[in-house]
Amino acid sequence: MPAVNGYAVQDPASPLAPFNFERREPGALDVQIDIMYCGVCHSDIHQARNEWGGSIYPMVPGHEIIGRVTKVGAEVTAFKIGELAGVGCFVDSCRTCASCLANEEQYCDTGMVGTYNGREKDGSPTYGGYSTQIVVDEKYVLHVSEKLQIEGVAPLLCAGITTYSPLRHWNIGKGHKVAIVGLGGLGHMGVKFAASFGADVTVLSTSKTKEQDALNLGAHHFAVTTDAAKMKSLAGKFDFILSTISAQHDYNQYLNLLSLNGTMVVVGVPPQPSAVQAFSLIGKRRSIAGSLIGGIKETQEMLDYCAAHNIVSDVEVIKAADINKAYERMLKGDVRYRFVIDIASLR
Ligand code: NAP
Ligand code: ZN
Ligand code: ZN
Repeated sequence: MPAVNGYAVQDPASPLAPFNFERREPGALDVQIDIMYCGVCHSDIHQARNEWGGSIYPMVPGHEIIGRVTKVGAEVTAFKIGELAGVGCFVDSCRTCASCLANEEQYCDTGMVGTYNGREKDGSPTYGGYSTQIVVDEKYVLHVSEKLQIEGVAPLLCAGITTYSPLRHWNIGKGHKVAIVGLGGLGHMGVKFAASFGADVTVLSTSKTKEQDALNLGAHHFAVTTDAAKMKSLAGKFDFILSTISAQHDYNQYLNLLSLNGTMVVVGVPPQPSAVQAFSLIGKRRSIAGSLIGGIKETQEMLDYCAAHNIVSDVEVIKAADINKAYERMLKGDVRYRFVIDIASLR
């Protein structure tokens, strides 16, 4: 079986460290990919540290994977050796439930098989993209354009689709006033997509220092959430809010910024629950909703949209050995705007 170099955590309290393991030989429908870049998602931190519970160790995180196809199984028709390929947050699902049949495999009734911290149908643990190579069924592999700067494409596989999907589902575009809350990996992609779809975009951030960046990314307005007077002036102003906050916070502070019939979609997953006041919802018939990544079909549509509109993530490329430092910086909100591991540093 092919030997793979990776980085893993052995338990919730230890840092990531080098870890060698084996992948399966590609089966008839499998694509083998030499990984070039892997993005670093805040979900990697939550899961490595078991903040959501149920983590499986050792864990090789990483679900924003870009690389080149090095082998294909005998029955693979969609990919050829040498092509660029992407892998996102899941590598399998039941394929028969209503969600899978509706191309929304992320909502599979029996649970999607996570790219890492999951179990294949045979029970073996899945290992993610902080590694030199991966083998995935072709149905769960994405086509990637050669036109874009590939290190900037890697984060599209999670941060990209997680923000694209709700903006599309709620038909956001021209005439909508949208707030993106939290300017990190997801948030900066949310700004790019919402602006590209024609919305009037405001970034709500705890970091005053990100103002100019927010405007450069395509936002039209910026507000610091600790500025109480400014926040008061924004009450009832937004049709749609996309919240990407990774830590516990007060949802009501943002719900109160929605206009009549406005919706706040939560994509950030703080480990602790947070109380929602009924008054934050009833006064203006507001809604709060959630959204989880996106299906394979929509992820491909998003990648094609990015190729057509020249959209990539703004990244800071790091060596694998710097991953623990990157985690610490993300926890301080110090990310501009996605860390991406150069997997050449693992070979
Ligand atoms: P990230 O790059 O670390 O960005 C999170 C941002 O949230 C920070 O940069 C900061 O932005 C803001 N923030 C952090 N702590 C805050 C606090 N206490 N109060 C207010 N704002 C705070 O993380 P990410 O990779 O974008 O992920 C964000 C969240 O989405 C994580 O919880 C992750 O697990 C989740 N996620 C969900 C999905 C899904 O499918 N739903 C997919 C991927 C990730 P400012 O400096 O601008 O305030
Ligand atoms: Zn992610
Ligand atoms: Zn299913």
